[in-house]
Parts: sequence; C-alpha cells; structure tokens
Amino acid sequence: MNTFRAVVIEKGDGGQTVALKDFREADLMPGDVTLRVTHSTVNYKDGLALTGRAPVVRRFPMIPGIDCAGVVEASNHPDFRVGDRVILDGWGTGETHLGAYAEKSRVKGDWLVPLPADMTPAQAMAIGTAGFTAMLSVLALEKHGLKPDDGPVIVTGAAGGVGSVAIALLAQAGWHVIASTGRAEEADYLKGLGAAEIIDRGELSGTGRPLGKERWIAGVDAVGSHTLANVLSMTRYGGAVTACGLAQGMDLPASVAPFILRGVSLLGIDSVMCPKPRRVEAWARVATDLNRGKLAEITSTIQLKDVIAAGADILAGKIRGRLVVEIGAA
Ligand code: NDP
Repeated sequence: MNTFRAVVIEKGDGGQTVALKDFREADLMPGDVTLRVTHSTVNYKDGLALTGRAPVVRRFPMIPGIDCAGVVEASNHPDFRVGDRVILDGWGTGETHLGAYAEKSRVKGDWLVPLPADMTPAQAMAIGTAGFTAMLSVLALEKHGLKPDDGPVIVTGAAGGVGSVAIALLAQAGWHVIASTGRAEEADYLKGLGAAEIIDRGELSGTGRPLGKERWIAGVDAVGSHTLANVLSMTRYGGAVTACGLAQGMDLPASVAPFILRGVSLLGIDSVMCPKPRRVEAWARVATDLNRGKLAEITSTIQLKDVIAAGADILAGKIRGRLVVEIGAA
C-alpha cells in the first residue's frame, strides 16, 4: 500500500481534528496530473482551515493547503509532462479538493501554471496565493488607468503576506506607498520594502464618516470592514481601491458617498477562480517585477510538521510577510 505524509483534517462528533499522518495514495481524488509536492506556504485562508475558525473546508477528510509548487510525476494532460515544474493555487485546493500540505497531490492539469523559467519553487511559494493576489491587485489598479504620478497608494494589512508583497511591487513601480499597520515595531521592515509613510491601522479601524479628507488616489485592501470603508472615504476623486481580504471582518459598513460624489471605484479581487490567462499574466509579471532580494527579506521557512501551529499564528497576526513550507526536494 503506497502512502505519503500529509496534514489531514477530520471531522467527528467532537468537532474538527488536524494531524500529520500517512495518507493512502489510492485515496487521492481524481485528476489528470499527479504532483510530487516540493513546497507550499501558509496563507490566511490556510489558518482558517487548519483551526476550523471559518468553514473553509467543505469535504472531510481534507488535506488543507491552498497552494503548492511541485514536479509532475504522472500526466494524462496534453500540456504537462513528467518532470515539468508547476504552480497550483486556488480552484478549491484545500477546500473541496485534497490540497497542498502533502508529499503528493492529484489535480486537474487545467488548474496548473508552469513555473516561470527563472523562478525556484521556493520563490514561487514565497510569493504564493498572497503574493499572487497582491499582483492581481496591482494589475487591477493599472487596468483602471492609475499611475504613480497620480498620487499616493495606501496598503492595509501592510506587514501581512498580501500587504508585504503589494508594498514591494508598488514601490518598485514608483508609487508613494502609505503602509497601514498595527505593528509599529515593523516600521523598519516596511520601509525596507519601500513604504514611504507608515500609519497606525487604528486610524482606519473605527466607525468612519461617509467622506473624509482626500488622502490617496489608490488603495490595496486586505482587511475589509471599517478599514475598507475608511479607505474608500479618504480616496481622492476618480481613484480606485482593490478589496481582497477580510482580516478585520467580512462586513463593509460604508456609504455610497465616495462612489457617487467622488467617482471612486471598488475593484474586487479573487484568486481562487481567476481565469487561467490572467493567472499566467500575473505570474509572469510578479516574476519580472518583484525584487528577489526583497522577496527573501519577507520570507521565513518552516517544515510540514510546523504547519498546524503556523495556522493559528497567522490568524493571531504573528506572522510577518510570507512563510514557505519545505516538503520535498525540488
Ligand atoms: P496575513 O495574516 O499575512 O495578513 C493580514 C494582515 O491584516 C495582518 O498581518 C495585519 O497586518 C492585518 N490585520 C489582521 N487583523 C486585523 C484587524 N483585526 N484589523 C485590521 N488589520 C488586521 O494574511 P494574508 O496576507 O495571507 O491575507 C490577507 C487577507 O486577504 C485575508 O483576509 C485573506 O483571506 C485574504 N486573501 C484573499 C484572497 C482572494 O483571493 N480574495 C487571496 C489571498 C488572501 P498588520 O499587522 O500590518 O496590521
């Protein structure tokens, strides 16, 4: 009986349990590509799945982990051959389909993106879904027609995964980046990534007014709730804000004033069902635009056995930047 090591979430009468254990290869779900997983990462959503804090997992048993880099071990898909290096993120991986915290994964080849030529699998997972989502956010601001000369951009959840990568990408592109964080002690880290100004997230997290002083032309928000409402209310005429996250909450206690009086746009960002052409575009852009030295600065590395504790840590706001999980030899 062939088995491999995996983090497995099970649900019984006493609730959800999670443990690192052996998993039978025969119990993998259908798919036309089998991967040897080399690296994964810990995103906020992984924390929700590992702790059971939100109903991210919709099948049991589940191997959590929403993204990985790996090597094709077997393929019936015309685009992929044995030995190809690939990235998997989203499409329900770790939610409805057995996921990434495992030595093996079997998935649909249509979900896979080839690893960009000059990127290592560890770098791909240092970027991971959080960094990919940051890139999608920057692309959305660009497609809206906004440029660094138009004014400052605010990044919320600045010291987190999406925030850290967004700051590095925007600063590299020439934006004046305002970083909103609850961790004043990370000021040097955020400035090192390219933040020009740092504000306390407390300025944005309370109940706000429908319209405030115009402070920025663009925003990348990973926090939601009052924070997003306040970011919108302080966005300059004609600006735009991307929304991808809910670290403060899923609600949006805002008014329509910024939209109807200042022509502000709210741009939704989803990484899970993002169509493949946009995925390939975003991975190509992040490969060229993200400074690899900065990427190394925001990255820490852990092993598969550390993932369960890291899930609780990311929800507690204790993780700075990005975590790479080493699973197998690249
Ligand atoms: P992280 O935990 O790494 O970062 C979140 C950051 O948000 C924290 O570091 C903290 O930043 C800030 N934060 C946490 N709690 C609060 C709070 N109560 N009020 C205000 N700010 C808070 O998570 P990720 O970067 O991986 O993900 C960020 C968000 O984006 C999550 O909600 C995640 O689910 C979402 N996401 C959505 C995707 C999509 O497809 N739409 C894809 C990827 C992520 P600081 O310490 O600097 O204040």
